[in-house]
Amino acid sequence: MKYISTRSNSQSVTVSEAIQKGLADDGGLYVPENFPVIDWSGVKNWNDFPSVAAYALKPFFEGDPLQSELDEICKSAFNFPVPLDLVTDRVAFLELFHGPTAAFKDVGARFLAECLVRIRKNNPRPLTIAVATSGDTGGAVAAAFFNKPGINVKVLFPKGRVSERQEKQLTCWGGNIEAYSVRGTFDDCQKLVKEAFTQSWITEYTDLSSANSINIARLLPQMTYYVYAANLYYRLTDEKPVVIIPSGNVGNSAGAFWAKQIGAPIKEIVLAVNANRPIPDFLETGKWEPRPSIQTLANAMDVGNPSNMERIRNLFPDFSDLKAAFTSFSVSDEEIKTTIKSTFFQSGMVLCPHTAVGEFVRKRWFPDAFTIVVATAHPAKFETIVEPEISQKVSVPKVLSDLLNRPSFVKEIDPDLHSVF
Ligand SMILES: *Cc1c(COP(=O)(O)O)cnc(C)c1O
Repeated sequence: MKYISTRSNSQSVTVSEAIQKGLADDGGLYVPENFPVIDWSGVKNWNDFPSVAAYALKPFFEGDPLQSELDEICKSAFNFPVPLDLVTDRVAFLELFHGPTAAFKDVGARFLAECLVRIRKNNPRPLTIAVATSGDTGGAVAAAFFNKPGINVKVLFPKGRVSERQEKQLTCWGGNIEAYSVRGTFDDCQKLVKEAFTQSWITEYTDLSSANSINIARLLPQMTYYVYAANLYYRLTDEKPVVIIPSGNVGNSAGAFWAKQIGAPIKEIVLAVNANRPIPDFLETGKWEPRPSIQTLANAMDVGNPSNMERIRNLFPDFSDLKAAFTSFSVSDEEIKTTIKSTFFQSGMVLCPHTAVGEFVRKRWFPDAFTIVVATAHPAKFETIVEPEISQKVSVPKVLSDLLNRPSFVKEIDPDLHSVF
């Protein structure tokens, strides 16, 4: 299997090359040259997520040395439960937040880490991963690469602009993970990371990678949990589910489109977004108009220019096909709050603000449908938003409290590369 850029098909690379490069030379995103036809009758146990994931990924790694290691990679990366929780005879929640940093980004970040360690195994040069973060991504990347041999991580976050618990997840590691509290904004952090790639005094002593969310090794595993969940759901209910996905940069939902492409029994894909609405507006007008992001309560979805949209548009180059492929609905902060509250008082279930976006869309537009709502984070990560709505404390899961109890290792710096490298 070869991978080509969304912007031209002139250059094709192996999956290992695509993982190392991150972005294609022409600035496009890597996509598989074609989608394989998979014979699913070989899956032995649909309840075993790591083995279902490895099975789905095999054809995507055809011809690459990593293919023979996929079972091991998936077992190490997905060492936490991924429950599909059927709460009524037709409504299920796919809980993607049982990894070390309690959000779905652990899935992609851990898979990427396992792949990169193997790709770099006999490479004498060190690898530095520089990541700018406004919250969840940096924590997932730090946790995934902690103690990985030959790889150092530098996490840059804007001082005072991430939540207390998010900051803890960025700074609690030490060892090969260095956290920098930058006196500046997220954009300053991102600028530093981009600048690092152009500095020969840095690149002459270390290889650099950004581990950001457009890397193919973060996207491919996000396809596998849709294969797994839709099949489990179909077996339980005899129906193909409508899958409702809280979306921002649409990497998670791009995984769902790819899953459907390779035969996952999905009826319909729905992108639930917050007040940032370039996607619903695009479906309505046919004009793609990225814009500055708006701050909302579901802050991990505050994206005004969703970069993985390029992959979805690549899959459906014709606008009428794209319009037929999915729907998208925007949800306000007020609706997020009332959904957290009403869900808790009606069913006892506590939702994070992102999952509440999905649940609002289900209640409003799909009340009687067979649905899977994707639960992207644990509510304890966003306790300052959730607790006032439910009038009580959110209990903190053990994975999270273990992190919160560790000491912090962090350097406060001005936005200057010489303080980082
Ligand atoms: C990143 C994130 C999202 C958005 O996912 P995308 O792949 O960017 O669409 C939703 N919820 C949570 C909790 C996240 O961390």
